[in-house]
Amino acid sequence: MARCSNCNAPLPDGSLLCAYCGDRNDIDLKGIHYYTTHENDSPRTCPRCDKPLKSIDLKLNGRFLIDRCEHCLGLFFDPGELEALLDATVKNVFLIDKSGLDGINLHRQPDQYPIAYIKCPVCSQLMNRVNFGARSGVIIDRCKAHGVWLDGGELLHLMEWMKLGGKLLDQERQEQIRKDELKQDMERHQKPSLYRREPSVFDSFGGPLQQSDPDLFDMIYKAIRFFTR
Ligand SMILES: [Zn+2]
Ligand SMILES: [Zn+2]
Ligand SMILES: [Zn+2]
Repeated sequence: MARCSNCNAPLPDGSLLCAYCGDRNDIDLKGIHYYTTHENDSPRTCPRCDKPLKSIDLKLNGRFLIDRCEHCLGLFFDPGELEALLDATVKNVFLIDKSGLDGINLHRQPDQYPIAYIKCPVCSQLMNRVNFGARSGVIIDRCKAHGVWLDGGELLHLMEWMKLGGKLLDQERQEQIRKDELKQDMERHQKPSLYRREPSVFDSFGGPLQQSDPDLFDMIYKAIRFFTR
């Protein structure tokens, strides 16, 4: 259980706000032992507080800059960075812990902000709300062109979700969707066969018979009746 860095009281699951002293705890970056804050403010503004974001360097495989609001502790990632960070910090997960996954979503604190669309820190267009990995329980705000906003505490939740095999589960789900689509595709291509007569003993008289050949059909039918009497 995470504890408040100010008063050491236990923090509610997934919450960065201490119920005792009211301090905001940076639970997201505690797993990342080392990062530096850059002198210059990023030209981007926090979609929650309207204050300039600070660039921080997480030093993952070299320089790894993300933007962070020092006030609400929200994070902004350029496209692909969030996935890269998750892959770099949560490795070697081979099992899916389904009950664990249900558990972290069950105990998750309700969202700290009312449901609303917020603006992209770069272009100020309203971002899309997407459930990360379809079932992670974290609704991220995404601008297709500029990146992803995570509110404070959401990164930690995503890391726990990854550790419990949430990403593997999502990959399985996507694989199943692909298979279903392929199956539907194949069925669609085979559809003309539905209008063809079922193969039967008559086919042994050479090639599939179309019902549009009633005379031939009738003739062969009669011939068989004749020989099998
Ligand atoms: Zn506290
Ligand atoms: Zn903020
Ligand atoms: Zn944008």
